Amino acid sequence: MTDTTAALNLPEAVARHLDHAFIGGQWVKPMGSTALEVINPATEGPVASITLGSQADVDAAVRAARTAFPDFAATSVEERVALLERVITIYESRLEDIAAAVSLEMGAPITVARARQAPAGLGHLKNTLVALKEFEFEQQLGTTTVRYEPIGVCGLITPWNWPLNQMALKVGPALAAGCTMVVKPSEIAPLSGIMFAAVLEEAGVPAGVFNLVQGDGPTVGAAISEHPGIDMVSFTGSERAGADVARRAAGTIKRVAQEMGGKSANIILKDVDLETVLKRDIAKMFVNSGQSCNAGTRILVPNELMEQAAAIAKEYAEGLIVGSPTNESTELGPLVSQAQFDKVQDLIQSGIDQGATLVTGGTGRPEGLEQGFYAKPTVFADATNDMRIAREEIFGPVLTLIGYDSEDEAVEIANDSPYGLAGMVSAADPDRAKAVARRMRTGMVHINGASANPLAPFGGYKRSGNGREAGAHGVREFLEIKSMFGDVS
Ligand code: NAD
Repeated sequence: MTDTTAALNLPEAVARHLDHAFIGGQWVKPMGSTALEVINPATEGPVASITLGSQADVDAAVRAARTAFPDFAATSVEERVALLERVITIYESRLEDIAAAVSLEMGAPITVARARQAPAGLGHLKNTLVALKEFEFEQQLGTTTVRYEPIGVCGLITPWNWPLNQMALKVGPALAAGCTMVVKPSEIAPLSGIMFAAVLEEAGVPAGVFNLVQGDGPTVGAAISEHPGIDMVSFTGSERAGADVARRAAGTIKRVAQEMGGKSANIILKDVDLETVLKRDIAKMFVNSGQSCNAGTRILVPNELMEQAAAIAKEYAEGLIVGSPTNESTELGPLVSQAQFDKVQDLIQSGIDQGATLVTGGTGRPEGLEQGFYAKPTVFADATNDMRIAREEIFGPVLTLIGYDSEDEAVEIANDSPYGLAGMVSAADPDRAKAVARRMRTGMVHINGASANPLAPFGGYKRSGNGREAGAHGVREFLEIKSMFGDVS
């Protein structure tokens, strides 16, 4: 076991700018003066303290973004390609610092931060570049020209769970589209946002194009949502906050793209090799301690296979190494915060109270991990779809097995959810799997364990949101559409 604690110091670029916003190409002291401790979830102790921004900081950032907009909107695709290439090069050279910042702020095991969290943001930037090079900003419809033009100044509000992944998924496409922006990272995980701003600064993003204001939702998030100088808000986070953003944005009729939670169902059909398929999918579900919007947390198995499925899941969950993010052997780190820990405990207790079979795990901390927001890898079997553990997004290492008798019933259970982000289906016959996938009311379906295509649209149906990120769709979210009638050729 290698303890990498020494490598997990606060990166210098982050430490230097804890009490700064990045506005108009400068690191500036925010006008707000409230300090907020960033808590390391593994120790429950502060790892840093940031200064929160205020309405006045959002005003200043919007002014800078508005001033920069005309020139940046007029840049050529080639100029924006060159900018993105520089961002990618610098980001790539800072991967280790980015991984450290993410691990410290949200508790991802350092191995996961290095292999998944930090490279995920880089992947999105690279794929945005691919999309930008191919994007048709003008199309002909007979004599009519349909033009896609940058929407203007964008407010980008992001969550803590895959912090830089989510930020890159917005900032890359906004830059590709020719938009300028005011970015607000989660106040729970603000360190990697500072790192990202430092990357953009070093890459020479023109002054005012990218502005970063730290702050909480009710102050800075609300100011961005309501701001008359902001043309569009792209939000990723909870349903509660997403609804509030949309309400506040309604007054200025700004476009709101919402990427929210999920309760994704994974339909396993009878003819598969249960052990192989379950282990593959359970491993994915537990990544990031279950704190992923698209985690397949409801696994639907034929009733006759429930007992066998429970045994496989139990063995897998009990074999997971839960522990300090700095240990390279750790597979599951802590949850992000006390609030998240309490929420997960409450939902685990609800599963027990509502009569699901607790196969392994349960409430409380894993043995030997009294400090830190660690939850036990938990599996429920024989659950029904009306239980809270089947309906609510738990965002923790909790798996719910639900039985079904027929394929129709499986589809009905899968679709009986307020959410519709991702779905999974596995069958020995790929055509059968595809037929089920077509019936699932979700924005994405993974068939037989297929990974997501990073150039394909990422987003959900129903309360999972209304936006689509990644690839060409991700760029299109930041564009207005103009029809020019008349033969101008
Ligand atoms: P959250 O809603 O608490 O916070 C998200 C962001 O919104 C933060 O920056 C926060 O400060 C801000 N915010 C909070 N209240 C606000 C308000 N009233 N007005 C404006 N901004 C406000 O969510 P979280 O706990 O950070 O993230 C977890 C949630 O994000 C989960 O539900 C998860 O499923 C979802 N998520 C969705 C996707 C997706 O692509 N669909 C990806 C990642 C996470």
